[in-house]
Amino acid sequence: MVPKLLVHGGAGRYRKVSEERRQRVLCEIENALYSGISALRSGSAIEGVVEAVSYMEQCGAFNAGRGSVLNLRGEAELDAGVMFGLDLSVGAVAALNDYWNAVRLADFIRQNTDHIFLAGEGARLLAEKLGMEKFKPLPERVKKYRELMRKFKENEIYWRKNRQLVSRYGLGTVGAVAIDSDGNLAAASSTGGIWLKLPGRVGDTPVVGGGFYAENGAAAASATGRGELIARFMLSARIAAEVRRGLNASDAAKKVVRELTDMFGANTAGVIVIDRNGNYGYAYNTEVFIIGIYDGERMETKYILEQKNSST
Ligand code: ASP
Repeated sequence: MVPKLLVHGGAGRYRKVSEERRQRVLCEIENALYSGISALRSGSAIEGVVEAVSYMEQCGAFNAGRGSVLNLRGEAELDAGVMFGLDLSVGAVAALNDYWNAVRLADFIRQNTDHIFLAGEGARLLAEKLGMEKFKPLPERVKKYRELMRKFKENEIYWRKNRQLVSRYGLGTVGAVAIDSDGNLAAASSTGGIWLKLPGRVGDTPVVGGGFYAENGAAAASATGRGELIARFMLSARIAAEVRRGLNASDAAKKVVRELTDMFGANTAGVIVIDRNGNYGYAYNTEVFIIGIYDGERMETKYILEQKNSST
């Protein structure tokens, strides 16, 4: 099998960004592909996705790891999940404070514990025990937090009413899917979640079958967008099920995103997929979707901007 890797840097509503910012994001997507590809070549699909996502957590250009957005108390709380299709092993962390490399912590849990998911203080304590590196939110995130808090009209129990205010700032969750030379599939996703989320809120990103899924013989998928909706729809697991029934990666992604749109409306998700035969695809119903593709030969990065919603 020819090894392949796809990464994404989030899907969501259009927001004006400078050309410089757009170029930075694309450059970091390319760097993430390079990191992932070299790990994929020397290891397996799981190393490929963990390295690619770790790079994106570390670089600070995305809403993940060091670049995470802040919750209602002004803290970063990170979510990440990883899955290996060979044995369906899973590791995930949620509401992780203080430590940026959430996906590596998730992968440690996958490999070294009997658990699949650690949340909050337990996740933080494990990161501390492993001597992982700490971080502080970026100054630009702290500045944005103060701006948003000035506009945030109600207190936290009325969060629902304020969703419109923060929905434009949600872009930048990251993820990766890969297939290695033995045909093993893997998926990983990582995020800081959504601006001004209630402390302790967990979205789709660390939820197996929601924000990520990988199963040899089916597909690997990593999703981004409105977390509560993606998790309720079990977006990534549905795509794998469609592949198992015979669709290729691209058709399965498009079909399931169309169904999500029918259920919950547009601007709700983007997803990258690789199937058991090494076909890859992606679909989105958002105004923006940022992706990188390594098809085994060439690398391509895309900052997709749609005036109207579509899927490809
Ligand atoms: N899905 C993420 C969450 O809800 C956010 C995103 O993908 O932009 O936490």
